[in-house]
Amino acid sequence: MSSISDLTLDQTRRKLLSKELSAKDVTDHYLSRMEVYKSLNAYITETPDLAQKQAAESDARLANGTARPLEGIPIGMKDLFCTEGIRTTAGSKILGNFVPHYESTVSRKLRDAGTIMLGKTNLDEFAMGSSNTTSAYGNTISPWRRKNGGNEELVPGGSSGGSSAAVSAKLCLGATGTDTGGSIRQPASFCGIVGIKPTYGRCSRWGIIAYASSLDQAGVFAETVKDTALLLEACSGFDPRDSTSANLPVPDFSAALTGDVRGLRIGIPKEYRVDNMPEEIEKLWQQGIDWLKSAGAEIVEVSLPHTKYALPTYYIIAPAEASSNLARYDGVRYGVRQDKPALIDMYEATRAAGFGDEVKRRIMIGTYVLSAGYYDAYYIKAQQVRRLIRQDFINAFEKCDALLTPATPSAAFAIGENEDDPVKMYLNDVFTVSLNLAGLPGMSVPAGLDSQGLPLGLQIIGKAWDEETIFKVGGVLENAANFKAKPFQ
Ligand code: GLN
Repeated sequence: MSSISDLTLDQTRRKLLSKELSAKDVTDHYLSRMEVYKSLNAYITETPDLAQKQAAESDARLANGTARPLEGIPIGMKDLFCTEGIRTTAGSKILGNFVPHYESTVSRKLRDAGTIMLGKTNLDEFAMGSSNTTSAYGNTISPWRRKNGGNEELVPGGSSGGSSAAVSAKLCLGATGTDTGGSIRQPASFCGIVGIKPTYGRCSRWGIIAYASSLDQAGVFAETVKDTALLLEACSGFDPRDSTSANLPVPDFSAALTGDVRGLRIGIPKEYRVDNMPEEIEKLWQQGIDWLKSAGAEIVEVSLPHTKYALPTYYIIAPAEASSNLARYDGVRYGVRQDKPALIDMYEATRAAGFGDEVKRRIMIGTYVLSAGYYDAYYIKAQQVRRLIRQDFINAFEKCDALLTPATPSAAFAIGENEDDPVKMYLNDVFTVSLNLAGLPGMSVPAGLDSQGLPLGLQIIGKAWDEETIFKVGGVLENAANFKAKPFQ
């Protein structure tokens, strides 16, 4: 018999339902892999006792016919989702002792769907980063290595790098992420797995520690497109506790995987042909276009003229919102307090000791662009450009049903690379941030390997509320790419 971790989420689900496997077998198997691969540092907090308790409940339900849709499926939870009674750090020292007394809507929905939580996955501090190296709990190490890289350790991407590494190394069957500017799609691309960020408002943000509220959106990672469809179905839906959550029915995402893209119009945005794009990525993109064309899709060139303003716009709006959201970590309302006799000194010492450099940089940028005198020049201007970027997509979608682009401008880089220059690090998000500014859904699908044997992803961008087309196109790309590479080989 093949090993339990050779199975996809959907295959495991079927074997649980047919009683070929028990939830206890599956859970114990994943918990033991977590022990073996602990050095990847994919989890900040492991929850084996909870997992075993949930597995026992799943086995009881599987036995008595009350199994829920994802009964017995072990998952990882990005440590940005508040989990009742379980420490939730946001990758920051300032929340090192924070044990929420409430459960985020997304994690609750996944729990109520029968999943088993193995632990809280590592992330860049407050989800700010593209490499997982800003975590106060040490960086996650990608399970992938360059063929000729002298075994150099690589980043798993970020900010949801613990989740992407855990799924890729099979330390869980699926995981949650959040995506403010690319934090699901970029790590999925770096780790050779599927990641989807749905439309803003599809998943509730309630109980997710806020980074930039108008951009943050939850989503999921898994090995296959079908697996992400099953997970996303379980965690989507209206939530009266989040005023930006949409009161719309959740479609049957897996039913959208028809394998048929005949007649679909796929837009290729010409502005995404950025300077200095590695030839391998250019080629992969062309390959993706050819795959869809031969599956019967129609390829159309479209223009998103404001693309070049997306990064600067994002890096004004996101820090502005972050500086406001992070004001609550003052040692009074939240945060590990550094005691000082005077109140102001206490605030300063608490924030100086609790936040890492990248978070401080963003708070400073955000405070600056929101300050009197600069507000109009930076923040208001950025909001105006954001509207233009959104309008670009609205215009493009008059000519097509979905867009195809690369997910990232490079494959995974080594830990420590890009650290000297924040702007270079920010360039990682060049293909992903526009969607967040426009509130649109996007998926990264593993499509090939670079010359070093590292995964590269293609991104499918959909219309608002049309994740179904993304799943449909994703399924076709997945079949055509037949991506079978695995890490540790
Ligand atoms: N890398 C981007 C940033 O640092 C995106 C992060 C995210 O999506 N959470 O802001």
